[in-house]
Amino acid sequence: MEKIRLGKTGLMVSASSFGALPIQRISVKDAGYLLRKAYDSGINYFDTANAYSDSEEKIGAALSDVREHIIISTKSGGKDYDTVLSHIQLSLKRLKTDYIDLIQLHNPSELPDVNDPHSTYAACVEAKRRGYVRFIGITNHGRERARAAVLSDAYDTLQFPLTCIAPQEDIDLALLAHERDMGFIAMKGMAGGLLKHAETAFVFMKKYPFVVPIWGVQRESELDQFLEMEKNPPKYEDWAAEIEKEKRELAGSFCHGCGYCQPCAAGIEIQTVARMSLFLRRSPVGPWMSEKSYAMMMQAEKCIHCNACKSRCPYGLDTPRLIEQNLADYKSFRDGWLAAQLRKNEQ
Ligand code: SF4
Ligand code: SF4
Repeated sequence: MEKIRLGKTGLMVSASSFGALPIQRISVKDAGYLLRKAYDSGINYFDTANAYSDSEEKIGAALSDVREHIIISTKSGGKDYDTVLSHIQLSLKRLKTDYIDLIQLHNPSELPDVNDPHSTYAACVEAKRRGYVRFIGITNHGRERARAAVLSDAYDTLQFPLTCIAPQEDIDLALLAHERDMGFIAMKGMAGGLLKHAETAFVFMKKYPFVVPIWGVQRESELDQFLEMEKNPPKYEDWAAEIEKEKRELAGSFCHGCGYCQPCAAGIEIQTVARMSLFLRRSPVGPWMSEKSYAMMMQAEKCIHCNACKSRCPYGLDTPRLIEQNLADYKSFRDGWLAAQLRKNEQ
């Protein structure tokens, strides 16, 4: 597979790389199969995080025998020097390796003072000094914070959400990072699962050949689709109209499903509830009508309006309001669906 230079790290990573967040949701055996198939098919870069439950362990189990042929990045969301250092040591153990290619500070809500010897950044520098990590990066969902991180020149890479429906400001951020020779890793290329066609995401990324997309895959069919597109790339012109349509349909503020608003004091699955109206119109409705999904949605009625989710949302969304709107829409949609089912059964 074609390789992309990851900015000043000089690492040559596969043009389609592997985002290992979703493999948390599948068995060790299935994850091992998927990771190995990705590797055998030319994917050499795998991105994970301390916070992705057993994702690091699954990578360690599946790929430790080919460690020298792959590039691994992970993340620490530690809030202080000691926690970040201990996360890195834990990652080494879980990944069954003695070095991590890239450690990233995981979506900090404030940038650390890079001159403070006790900061989270200093912990990464110390890890580098000890040989635990080779390069230091940062991930963020906040555009202004990400921009400040780029301008600080303190990081080798930036990981940021980028999709074909992204506003021009996000594209400008990627271009700025590239200008300063920072590696740009694109997360959420499929807009958190909201895009209807993977081709739209793929052709968009190819317009910016320095951008490294980490596709979050959990099914073999999803992996196959990206592998096939790498072999026979679709053309931008053939998907431009669809991209414009997606932009119109998903215009404005929508929930990206990142889950940073959690935990919720009322046990609400915010990232699903807040996207329900979109799911109902962009994916098969059957599974959303089940008793299990209904119970999950009804949990939203228990919201105590503490606004904790709102204060944590990196996109500045009015999360409680979004929940209310989606719940109301779900209820009326389900009523209509049940009535239609009844009529069908009576015929
Ligand atoms: S405002 Fe509602 S949804 Fe948000 S964290 Fe509080 S209880 Fe949960
Ligand atoms: S409401 Fe905000 S923080 Fe929560 S999942 Fe959606 S985009 Fe992420």
